[in-house]
Amino acid sequence: MVTSRELGKTRLPLWAAGFIALVCVVILGLSAWREWEARKVDLGNAEIEVANLAHSLVQHADDTFELADTLLVGLVHRLEIDGTGPETIAKLQAYLPTRKSSDRIRGIFIYDAAGRWLATTERIDFSKLNNSDRDYFRRHRDSADPGTLIGPPVKSRSGGQWIITASRRINDIDGGFAGVALLTIDVSYFVKFYERFDIGANGSASLLNTSGIMLARSRDNDGAFVGRDLSNAPLFKGWDSRPAAAVYYFKSPLDGVQRLSYYQRSSRYPLMVLASKSQDDVLAPWRRAATTRMTFVVGLALLIAMIGSYLVRQLVQRQRTAQALVTTEANFRLLAEQSSDMVTRISLDNRLLYVSPSCARITGWSAEELLGTSALAGIHADDMERVEQAIAALKNGEAEEARFIYRQRHRDKGEIWAEAALHVTLASDSGTIDGVVAVVRDITEQKDLQDRLASLATTDGLTGLANRRAFDERLADEWARARRDGTQLSLLLIDVDHFKKFNDHYGHLAGDACLRALGRILSAQARRPADLAARYGGEEFAVLLPNTGPDGCAEVGEGIRQALQDLAMLHAQNPPTRLVTASLGGAAALPSQAMADCSTLVAAADRALYAAKDAGRDQLVMSGQVIPWPAKSA
Ligand code: GH3
Ligand code: MG
Ligand code: MG
Repeated sequence: MVTSRELGKTRLPLWAAGFIALVCVVILGLSAWREWEARKVDLGNAEIEVANLAHSLVQHADDTFELADTLLVGLVHRLEIDGTGPETIAKLQAYLPTRKSSDRIRGIFIYDAAGRWLATTERIDFSKLNNSDRDYFRRHRDSADPGTLIGPPVKSRSGGQWIITASRRINDIDGGFAGVALLTIDVSYFVKFYERFDIGANGSASLLNTSGIMLARSRDNDGAFVGRDLSNAPLFKGWDSRPAAAVYYFKSPLDGVQRLSYYQRSSRYPLMVLASKSQDDVLAPWRRAATTRMTFVVGLALLIAMIGSYLVRQLVQRQRTAQALVTTEANFRLLAEQSSDMVTRISLDNRLLYVSPSCARITGWSAEELLGTSALAGIHADDMERVEQAIAALKNGEAEEARFIYRQRHRDKGEIWAEAALHVTLASDSGTIDGVVAVVRDITEQKDLQDRLASLATTDGLTGLANRRAFDERLADEWARARRDGTQLSLLLIDVDHFKKFNDHYGHLAGDACLRALGRILSAQARRPADLAARYGGEEFAVLLPNTGPDGCAEVGEGIRQALQDLAMLHAQNPPTRLVTASLGGAAALPSQAMADCSTLVAAADRALYAAKDAGRDQLVMSGQVIPWPAKSA
């Protein structure tokens, strides 16, 4: 089952990736927000600028038209009092040019009720000119309104340039229509004034009347904009409900440029000004700086994302490695813990650092009991030196592995045979030897089997004595030892008398029993540890007596003969005793360099045996003496 903690661990890279993504998003978001704020500040500053400009422009327009208004009021007042008689007109004609001192005023004109020119500041022949077709003329003629009428821009009849007209109705004494006083202002006057302000390459300052007709516009030297009817532009939609002055964003219907502007209506005249800047111009510095700043920020976010993704990948990699390590560790632990062999880790000071549970079976002690104890405890004293040497060789780096068989104490069974395979372990950081791993196997059964097989190979099945092979090996060994030590070696060969007849008479099973009985006698008589009784073949036996001279040999031989006699097994075919008897040939030797090998001893004993047979059986003959041993009498 996966715990929430493990789940948290496996999701760690996901959390880390999420966190890094969040950091990137927050950085980008904050920067974008900051840039948006900076943009708003720039636009706000530009709004203040265009608002200030609009205030100035509307003031300027008011002043200009107020001047025109004052002049017209004065003129009309005079004409209405003095009438439009030739005298008055002559005076006026003399007076008017003096009023044209300011560059604001293009010209002043007086028309009679029929539209004929009466007087003007222009120095032209106007006797034939008639302005009764002009819109302002018709409006004054048709309306009794005494106010100043500011007309749409028109092309001057006298100069051909664009002009703005301001006109007033002249009444006669009865209040009837007596003519029109007209004052014209050059559009270029406003245009020049507007161009004094720095409003950017795509900015504009415009003067419009409240019906949406363009009166003057900066950068309009060729007159492309003047006179244009903009009453359909969105600004004039719902015009009456709009405030008198406000910031206004729009896409210019004249040049298609997106503008931020401030419009302000004149409080005195049906006019308005519109000061605008191109939004692109206003935002260009911000755009450049923001692009640079955002490039850095995006670069930083990318860097964070790259480093983050690298770290996350490392994290995933590490988790996989750790997972693999855990799996491997679990596998090895399973191997160690489920193995019938005892797996141990031994420190450099021979303490047990780890013991697998099978120690309970192999030593009788539990892993908890063994942990921290000496790894050498319980090893048989005779094996200790060998084991210590093997471990020392491992620790010194002389060998990488060692295998040995030793005896080990078992809590309940006493002693077992164990086989150990040892390997050094290396510290993962320094690579130096930091201990030993030992795998110990209980081989007691194997060892017993081995011993049994070994004994089977050297033991005679019928009598339990050593067999011929074991005898031959032992004879060679003892011969060599005797020669080395300068001691004597004796050999007795024993042959049952008339055993064929025994078999014939009593049967083979009885014959076997007889041979087993003789075997027991030989085992009993060959008393010394080094003595060896063996079945030499058929009903012939041999007794090897190391460190024994002729006398001792004769004594043992006679003892055997006597014991057989004492056993008194019936052998009807063996006169005269009619008991089982045997003939013995004995030989003793002091092996010297001169004597080539042990076969001489066997040959001597054999000859003595034959002599004993020849001499009538049931007796011992010693080699070299080949005279009847006084056995029967003894
Ligand atoms: P001698 O007195 O000359 O020794 O006569 P012998 O009959 O003992 O001599 P021989 O060597 O002719 O006979 C030996 C007999 O021993 C022949 C064989 O049947 C018998 N024999 C040999 N091995 C065994 C055995 O393992 N069991 C039995 N029952 N008989 C055996
Ligand atoms: Mg024989
Ligand atoms: Mg015989």
